[in-house]
Amino acid sequence: MDIQLDYAPGGYFSISENGFVQSANRTFLDMLGLNDPEALIGQHIESAMSPTNKMFFHTYFYPYIQLYGRVDEMYFSFRTPDKQNVPVLLNGVRQERGGEIAIDCVALLMRKRLEYEKDTLRTKRKLEELYQATRELNGQLESLHVEYEKKQRALIEVNQKLETLALTDALTGLSNRRAFQERLHAEFASLRAGGAVCSLLLVDIDHFKKINDTYGHPAGDLVLADLARLLRETAEEGDLPARFGGEEFVLLLPGSGREESIRKAESVRTAIEVRDWGPYRVTVSVGAATADTDSTESSLLYAADLALYASKSGGRNRTTHADD
Ligand code: GH3
Ligand code: MG
Ligand code: MG
Repeated sequence: MDIQLDYAPGGYFSISENGFVQSANRTFLDMLGLNDPEALIGQHIESAMSPTNKMFFHTYFYPYIQLYGRVDEMYFSFRTPDKQNVPVLLNGVRQERGGEIAIDCVALLMRKRLEYEKDTLRTKRKLEELYQATRELNGQLESLHVEYEKKQRALIEVNQKLETLALTDALTGLSNRRAFQERLHAEFASLRAGGAVCSLLLVDIDHFKKINDTYGHPAGDLVLADLARLLRETAEEGDLPARFGGEEFVLLLPGSGREESIRKAESVRTAIEVRDWGPYRVTVSVGAATADTDSTESSLLYAADLALYASKSGGRNRTTHADD
């Protein structure tokens, strides 16, 4: 055998039609771990195969090469005498030589390639695991985000409710004193910025104690709630009725001057006077005040309070404007 072929970078062997090895190069002998060529040449090629390899060889290699005259790129495995697998890529061609059939084969060692493939497969599997984990984490993150937004919306709603509660009088449903003070403060800010006039009415139920004393505190509560409803229903647009405390109410009248405030006060007072209160007689005294350039929030309230006092001492069920 040529030295080139003997030491070619691939195993070469030739078998007879019934499988006996007729020649083999050094590379192939080395692949099988055989020093002595006689250990292979003259032997049946199946002596270098495991039982499973033999079966495979019988099932695929022989029929294929009989049928097509050649076998290309068949993954196969030989076995060394100490039972090590030798994975190869096998090409074979069946040809006539000197009146006899010979099957010439080339076997390329596949160990490195198989390692690469295994490595690639491992890396691919690892990547898929990482992708899966990332997908799961993203899913979790998304649902956490949804949960967070839901909680935040609920919190905003609760806060809005709390704010409404904090500014509402529980018994009458009117704005409470705090809400009124905030509105008054805002009105004064716009007055100072050159806004229109502003008045307020203090409305105090006359002899309310008597209603409580005669019919009981719960009955007094009903009167307060009814009177609050009347204030709310008769309030003109832009006016703010509020419960100032006890049986005392306040109406903030942005944009109303003195005359307008007196008209509105009288309208409220007479509406209460003529309303059917059942067994009770309910009237109110009103103190009106209109802000001027020197007014402050407290001076306006004080002026309205003085006017209310004047209405009380003047006989009740009447309106007094602070200017008078
Ligand atoms: P005046 O005409 O001088 O205003 O007499 P009044 O009796 O209305 O005034 P006074 O200040 O003497 O009494 C107010 C009463 O209002 C006393 C208090 O028990 C009652 N009151 C205050 N808040 C409430 C409430 O929320 N419900 C009830 N039922 N009564 C209340
Ligand atoms: Mg009163
Ligand atoms: Mg009072």
